[in-house]
Amino acid sequence: MNDDLYRRYMKAFQTLELHKSGCQVCQPDLPCEAGRPMYERFSRLQDAYRERMAKRRR
Ligand SMILES: [Zn+2]
Repeated sequence: MNDDLYRRYMKAFQTLELHKSGCQVCQPDLPCEAGRPMYERFSRLQDAYRERMAKRRR
């Protein structure tokens, strides 16, 4: 079983959470300059992961 997607998804989540916990500027709908790529990466991986889960359920 290939869980690479899940690992990358979790890593992106942790990276983002770590940044947010130390960042005074980030808001959920308005990330700071440094946080924006992390948000984008996380939401891309989240979409991919959810899509995979939805396919598996069928
Ligand atoms: Zn930030």
